[in-house]
Amino acid sequence: MGGKPTLAKNLSLDDPLQFIKGVGPKRADLLKKINLETVSDALFYLPFRYDDRSQVKKIIKLVPGEIVSFVGEVVDAAVIRVGRRRKIFEALVQDDSGFVRVKWFQFNETYMTEKIKVGRKLIFSGKPTHDKRGGGLEVIHPDTEIRSDENSGSLEIGRIVPIYHSTEGLHLKSLRTIMKNVVDNYKNLIQEFLPEKIIRRYKFPTRSEAIQRAHFPPNDASTKFLDKFQDPSQARLIFEEFFLLQLALAFKKRHVEINEHGQPFKTRGETIRKFLKLLKFDLTNAQKRVLGEIMGYLEKKEPMNLLLQGDVGSGKTVVALIALLTGVDNGCQAVLMAPTELLAEQHFLSIRPFCKALNITTELVTSSGTAKEKSLIRNCIEHGTTQIIVGTHALIQKKVEFFNLGLIVVDEQHRFGVLQREAIGKKGLTPHVLIMTATPIPRSLALTLYGDMNVSFLDEFPPGRMPIETKLFYENTRDAAYHLLEKEIKEGRQAYVVCPLIEESESIDLKAAIDVSDELKSRRLPNFKIQLIHGKLKKEERQTIMAEFKNGGIDVLVATTVIEVGIDVPNATVMLIEHAERFGLAQLHQLRGRVGRGKHASKCFLITSHALTDDGKARLNAIVKSRDGFAIAEEDLRIRGPGDFTGTRQSGMPLLRAGNLLRDIKLLELSRREAIDLIEQDPQLEAPEHVKLKDILHHTFVNQTNLMKVI
Ligand code: ADP
Ligand code: MG
Repeated sequence: MGGKPTLAKNLSLDDPLQFIKGVGPKRADLLKKINLETVSDALFYLPFRYDDRSQVKKIIKLVPGEIVSFVGEVVDAAVIRVGRRRKIFEALVQDDSGFVRVKWFQFNETYMTEKIKVGRKLIFSGKPTHDKRGGGLEVIHPDTEIRSDENSGSLEIGRIVPIYHSTEGLHLKSLRTIMKNVVDNYKNLIQEFLPEKIIRRYKFPTRSEAIQRAHFPPNDASTKFLDKFQDPSQARLIFEEFFLLQLALAFKKRHVEINEHGQPFKTRGETIRKFLKLLKFDLTNAQKRVLGEIMGYLEKKEPMNLLLQGDVGSGKTVVALIALLTGVDNGCQAVLMAPTELLAEQHFLSIRPFCKALNITTELVTSSGTAKEKSLIRNCIEHGTTQIIVGTHALIQKKVEFFNLGLIVVDEQHRFGVLQREAIGKKGLTPHVLIMTATPIPRSLALTLYGDMNVSFLDEFPPGRMPIETKLFYENTRDAAYHLLEKEIKEGRQAYVVCPLIEESESIDLKAAIDVSDELKSRRLPNFKIQLIHGKLKKEERQTIMAEFKNGGIDVLVATTVIEVGIDVPNATVMLIEHAERFGLAQLHQLRGRVGRGKHASKCFLITSHALTDDGKARLNAIVKSRDGFAIAEEDLRIRGPGDFTGTRQSGMPLLRAGNLLRDIKLLELSRREAIDLIEQDPQLEAPEHVKLKDILHHTFVNQTNLMKVI
């Protein structure tokens, strides 16, 4: 970005706004607050709403409540004192059809007496209301401009007026004037980069036209469409933003396919046949279909890069295991990574018996265990003695050397974020990668974050799933929730009681969990076995507790969120969540997914304090209303916004200036299809008509993410 002033001949879209007419250092600082530093920032800072002030009406046609503009002559104007302090500026305005009163309660007296002078013709815009005396109409605080002959140049009146989000100290009118200057001075520099074909197919305006129109729409545009971001100008700008992103993703995907070589696997081998015989159930149709897709990718010579989305309880583990076994069948090592140690342990425990039966060596790698144990395990992995390795993502961070790693399964990817996903590839290996997520990522977000991957959906639950009844309780009805819980465990079921635990208040939270557990033991459920589990316990202790819970030796497991993902105990039918308002939607959905896994109907009780924020209320209601992970995820996206969605600001989520992942899903999908088509036709973007596109792509993404490393 050059700091050069805007010499008339030497303009650039990177020019700092400070040197735009009407800005200066003070306003430049204000503009920075809304992330506007350069001309280009401003051009893409679109209005979020529009006021239709294009209709200029006769005074007699004014209707209460309807925003309107009118032209009239001031026939009377005065400052009226009300009581000792207050003043009102009042004027009577007349045209050839009638009179109307206009009023200001806040005004600068010198300025107003100068501007609203008797005999002057002005143009007003505002919303008429009935005056208190019950007589005619009045307009409070109308926008006012002196009527001049070149009124077509007015930014405020007699046109569709753009409304921007501004910031304190920067008047909307000033912002609008700045925008007008920027658009007028720089519109000729805005270059087209979309391919002709696409522009013609969708009848898009050019880039420059789109920007002008989106900021200052002509009077024949429709505010109804504009407000929904469906004006052709907006649609084009949203499309191009998504299109660039999708093009980058498609380019990267294609690049990986061409340049990275993996080991093509033979699939459906002997081990798999044996494994399916050991399995106590038949695979669901969705599991079969997804496995078919996976096998298809594994047979290719380019490494698989697949995102498997399947709601909580849809049976992803078996799918993962079959993929791992396919790796082993091909003489490779295979890795299963989980986001928490507890889940890694659980996976290990459920996989081990199968491995034993199939004569496959497997090890668990976590941070616990003695140095000696760890180095022994590491040794076996390095020398290829261990075939299936289960662990947390520490596996890729801690430089475990593999003998011949052929396949990686990453479970519950949403906890990792995008950065670690990149790290997998950094080992210089090109194993097949299967990423599984149950946090239903809204489709739009998946396409944006993981658009360079193939995606499969496990969209069917194993048969016989019982419903989960979800109920909200407040502090004062907590007893009722615990009564219902007691009823269940008296019938032989088991229950989870989950307490929040966040790092910042870890010791307080842990204390609260201990208190809950103690209270259950001493007062509420003295005759039952209550056990506390949390992340601070030793691995062996945790394993013993989980094994005991699985065997039915524990009635109520009081847990911090360590049990959030993956845990599978079918006899547990109650999930009671304390301080439910402190959990995110995805977390609540995951937690609820711990029950409803067996043949008994299940219940989920959310306990919360009365002091809920509106967002908090909306979140909890979303969980109570729906069990569909995708619907919940959309709701989460709506409430929290995409930046927050994956829990971290560095989630790799590219900045969207025009597009909105909820509102513009159709344009997103359209742009994706076009991008994939284009890369298929011209993988390197070498054709002359695509060269500019490649430039822009590079320019746009080179600093934003490491998405564009390959370009
Ligand atoms: P998730 O997709 O949440 O990881 P799991 O793999 O933990 O789900 O599976 C949930 C439960 O469903 C487990 O108890 C698992 O054994 C069982 N399960 C998986 N597939 C089937 C199937 N095809 N038929 C019956 N039960 C199944
Ligand atoms: Mg799972």
